[in-house]
Amino acid sequence: MSSDVEKNSKKGLMTRLTHSGGNEAAKRTAQSVSVPKVVPIYMSSVFSFDDVPSLDGVYDGTQKGYVYSRMANPNYDALNEVLTQAEGCDGAVSFGSGMAAIVTAFLANVSAGDHIVASPVLYGGVYDYLKNEAPRFGIEADFVDFENDDLERHMKPNTKVVYTETITNPLMEVPDLRKAAETAHRHGAKLIVDNTFATPVICRPLEFGADIVVYSATKYLGGHSDLTCGVVLSGAENISRVQKLATLYGGIPGPFDAWLLTRSLRTLELRVRQHSDNAQKLAEYFEKHPKVEKVYYPGLPSSPSHAVAAGQFDGGLFGGMLSADIVGGEGGASRFIAACESVKFVPSLAGVTTSISYPAKTSHRAYTREEMDRCGISMGQLRFSAGLERIEDVIAEFDRAFASV
Ligand code: PLP
Repeated sequence: MSSDVEKNSKKGLMTRLTHSGGNEAAKRTAQSVSVPKVVPIYMSSVFSFDDVPSLDGVYDGTQKGYVYSRMANPNYDALNEVLTQAEGCDGAVSFGSGMAAIVTAFLANVSAGDHIVASPVLYGGVYDYLKNEAPRFGIEADFVDFENDDLERHMKPNTKVVYTETITNPLMEVPDLRKAAETAHRHGAKLIVDNTFATPVICRPLEFGADIVVYSATKYLGGHSDLTCGVVLSGAENISRVQKLATLYGGIPGPFDAWLLTRSLRTLELRVRQHSDNAQKLAEYFEKHPKVEKVYYPGLPSSPSHAVAAGQFDGGLFGGMLSADIVGGEGGASRFIAACESVKFVPSLAGVTTSISYPAKTSHRAYTREEMDRCGISMGQLRFSAGLERIEDVIAEFDRAFASV
């Protein structure tokens, strides 16, 4: 009998079952001369201390350690470290979803009585939040076409945030970030940019004057359709405010999702290059197809956003997302979706396989028909997420699907 077993032999079975292999085992592992090559998944909601001064030390930052996993956890820290490296900035705060990240970034910068100016073409959830939820807390939002309207005219003394997407969902427009940042800053407002479609491989909005970058990491950063996460990235001052709210609102990701996203980020650049190459080929294919009325992709020289995109994007890459108006409106779009076999109808994006979404019926449901018409979101418009496959196989499938339209 080992001395440990002997020492505890008088204790009840439930005591031995609940105490052995716990805190002390974790401490022994931490003291080991070898360390795991990959940060393991720390599925622990809370951390224990030997004494009160150790806890005080962790709270005041003089000792390294963790307290409670809603505040931080080793997987959360490892994830934020990789994200910070990818974006090249002071800090990252990751969240359990893109919406949690975006709403927390807003709330860190506005109070009741403040005003947000946002692009009218946005992921529908953010549009819904700004239009229908933020006003309940005294936060007013106006939607302004950054390219065709004068942003300056819509800035008010209480405007605290200007918000746009690097590549807008679903019209793939690319706003001039430097111009938007200059206008925001002239009025004492911050520019927050959703860089979900571009990723840091293609564009780093902070380099163009943005103050805060947000992501739905559920998309390219995750890249395998198996996790839901979000991120806020910025300089130290903004990040410490966002971190405080993340802890108070309780939006940070669990250890498993944080671990999975860290793993996914290792291959981000390779994936985004392939997604972009495939999207470029799909856009060129659609542009020539008689059953496509209009293609939306900033990599096409015919795109009104091409010049701005070429100036803001790296490596001749324009991202993996594109949209196309299919002839026949809703009927044409529905028949095309139904005729596809391996290319699935998926109301998300950025997975390893090419997929189709239908913005008017999914991500942009919060828009009224009039709002969609005003923005140019049509009933025949499908949004494509180019996957990592050999794209000729996808094009052959689309050729067959178009025959049914
Ligand atoms: N931003 C963009 C551009 C999106 O497409 C989405 C979701 O589709 C979001 C934000 C919201 O992210 P999540 O679904 O991870 O909350």
